[in-house]
This record gives sequence, structure tokens and C-alpha cells, in this order.
Amino acid sequence: MAIKVCKFGGTSMAAGNVIRSVKGIIESDKERRFIVVSAPGKRYSGDVKVTDMLYACHSARDREELKKLFAPVRNRFINIIKELNLNFQIDSLLDETEQQIFLKKQEDFTASRGEYICGVIMAEVLGAKFIDAKDVIFFKADGTLNDEKTYKSVAAALSGVPSAVISGFYGTGADGNIKTFSRGGSDISGAIVARAVNASIYENWTDVSGFLACDPRIVDSPKRIKQISYKEFRELSYMGADLLHSESVFPVRKANIPILIKNTFRPQDEGTTILPTSRYLQSGAAVTGIAGKKNFTVIFIEKANMNSEVGFMCNVLKVLSDENVSIEHIPSGIDTISLIIDRNQLEGKLERVIEGIKRAVSPDTVRVSEDVALIATVGYGMSSSIGTSARLFGAIAGADINIKIINQGSSEINIIVGVRNEDYEKCIRAIYGEFFN
Ligand code: ASP
Repeated sequence: MAIKVCKFGGTSMAAGNVIRSVKGIIESDKERRFIVVSAPGKRYSGDVKVTDMLYACHSARDREELKKLFAPVRNRFINIIKELNLNFQIDSLLDETEQQIFLKKQEDFTASRGEYICGVIMAEVLGAKFIDAKDVIFFKADGTLNDEKTYKSVAAALSGVPSAVISGFYGTGADGNIKTFSRGGSDISGAIVARAVNASIYENWTDVSGFLACDPRIVDSPKRIKQISYKEFRELSYMGADLLHSESVFPVRKANIPILIKNTFRPQDEGTTILPTSRYLQSGAAVTGIAGKKNFTVIFIEKANMNSEVGFMCNVLKVLSDENVSIEHIPSGIDTISLIIDRNQLEGKLERVIEGIKRAVSPDTVRVSEDVALIATVGYGMSSSIGTSARLFGAIAGADINIKIINQGSSEINIIVGVRNEDYEKCIRAIYGEFFN
């Protein structure tokens, strides 16, 4: 029988009644055997996620303060147990957790406890085995996943087990302490489990019915994307479509396991399937989706004949790597290059970076442009349909927006334009209007 791995996100774990529907979803399909859970998320807008409460606990200066900061975590879990009508000793588990947080004083350990407790509860609800992620997911000393050891351990722990719940978001670091992925990382945990057991599909249950072609806060009811390839998904999610952690494709991609995004609150909706490119059925449309982010800084560097100067680029990049600044894009011409950098990366460093570039390559000019927004228009159809870029630029010009930067990835499935922050929403509406209306 095929195996489905399901990950349930924070909103699916937020309250007892939702957890009850999750149980129904799991039990309606015998193939849904291995479940990965996040910590309880928001129940309504303005509510606080358990993980955020736990990060706050890490700042406690003494036992008294920790007790106060841990109280909302305690209440959330006590309520969940009450709502579920479970006969479960939640108080002793919470006391023990509070004590461990106090003694260890390790941020990642503290942050991971939402997933740990939620995993224990979910296993109880389902009558399934609980697997603590610390025993099966391992990181290397450089912070990346120790994939070989992890896949072996997960597969061994789940072999012969009819159904299990695995806590998301964390594992064990090279120093033996708990280490978390970046925020939203339970999505990666789910993908790891799917890969380790060679699942037929990785179902990611959230609170929306799949990917939309663009941000619904900008365009009213945008179209839903039924199918998208791993590559398109990476491009869109990296650029701000934040439904699923952008790194969650890596574990499943190598094993060609599709990811299905589903809505816990509307399980009847079809959702979005993220597929290996080889299995991806193109919709025939040139553009699959549009995503973007504001607040980039662009450093324009000009120097006559820079192309023929051996090591020019390398010397510029060295300045940035010495300052530990990562670069998003580097569009270039014969005598110019532009470095596009997330504004946060340059906080307190911009002047030093500019001075460093001047010293390293003696440019003719260096200019800085702040408040730039990047918008990615992504689609497999783009590489085969003539005139897509003409339509894209025509739509932007028609909206009277000045394009500051153009960048097309070598994969030909993505055109990125840079516009002023203030033109961001208008630009997305213009592109959407051209390709989807
Ligand atoms: N609970 C963690 C977070 O809020 C991890 C996750 O939800 O995937 O980031």
C-alpha cells in the first residue's frame, strides 16, 4: 500500500475542535500513516502563535518571569486538552517543560517545545506512536541537514510502524543539543519524512486551498494554481509567496515525490499540486504566478571596460562576503553591474560596503538606490511562448510605471523587474491584468 505523509500546520493544530477535524481527515484515508505537526498557531487574527510565546520565554531573566511568560503556553495546551476531552496528564508535561526551559536556557530547545508537546498530544489523539524529532533528524556542524544519517534514522524508526506522529521544526545539532530549522520549518520536516519512507505524496495541510496566482491582498480573488512545478514553486516562494517553506522541495525533489497543498478547513477543495518538472502538465498559459517583495537596495557600479578586467567581479563580491552580506541578483552590462540586496542585510553596513567597493575596484561611479521592490513573473510557458516579455513590459508601461531593473534567470521561467516600492502593488495588478484577466 502506498504511504502518504501529512504535515499539519499551526492553524490546523490551533484548537481542540480543529484537531478533531484533522483526526477525521487522517482517518478517512488509510494511506495517511505518518503525520508531522507544527505547534499550535493562530486561532483568529491578532492571536499569538505558541512558537512566538516560546521565543518570548527565552528572554526571561529569572524563574518568576519565566513562569509569567510560560503561562499563555500552558493555557493554550490545557484548553486544547479540555476541548478534546482527553484523559491526559498535561500538567506534569507542562511543568517538566517549564523546568527544562529554565535549566537549559537554549533558545532552539525552548522554541521547539510547541512542536514536541503538540506531537505528544496528537499521537494520543490518533492512538499512534510518537516519534521525537530529536531522535531521527540530525544536523551537521555547519547547520545543514545531515541527510544520510537522517533518512536512515527516520526510515528505521518508522519501519513496521502502522502509524506515527513526528514533531516538526527541529532535530539534533552536531553538538547534541536541539536545533531548529528556520521559521516555518515543519514543512521541511514533513518533506524529510516523506523522502525517508518513499511516500507516494507529501500532503501539506494548511488554512488555504492552495497557491494563488498572486497576493490576494493586492488583487481581488486571484486565480488558484492547480499545478505548479518544483522550480516555479521555488521561484515564487523565494520571492514572497509564503504558503510553504521554500526549502521544503529539496528533500522530495530528488525522489520525485509530489507535494499537495490542502486546506484543513475545506478538505473538499482540490488544492495545489507541486510536481517534478517531468510530470508537470503545462496549463498552456505563459504565466503561472506572480510574487514579489519590497525593500531592496541596489548598488550600481560603473567602470569603463570592467568586462575585460580579470577578477573585477570577484573583487566586488569579496567585499560583500567579508561583510557577510548575501546578494539576491547581479544584473550586468559591459561597463556596469548592479548588486541587488535585501535592505536588512545592509543594516549598519552600507557605507562600509560602498567604501570597500571603491577601494577594491576603483569604479568610475557607485550609486545607491533604496526602496526598490522586486516582482517575479514566473511560468514554464514563458520559455516556449513568444512575446511574453513584450506583454509584460507593455503592461507595466501601460500602468505608467518606470522599470529600474530587469533580470531574467537562465532557466527562462522567470522575469524579475525592479520598480519603486510605491509602484509595487500597481505593478502586480498590471501584470496580473495582462496575463490572467
Ligand atoms: N512553529 C514553528 C514556527 O512558527 C515552525 C512551523 O510552524 O513550521 O515557525
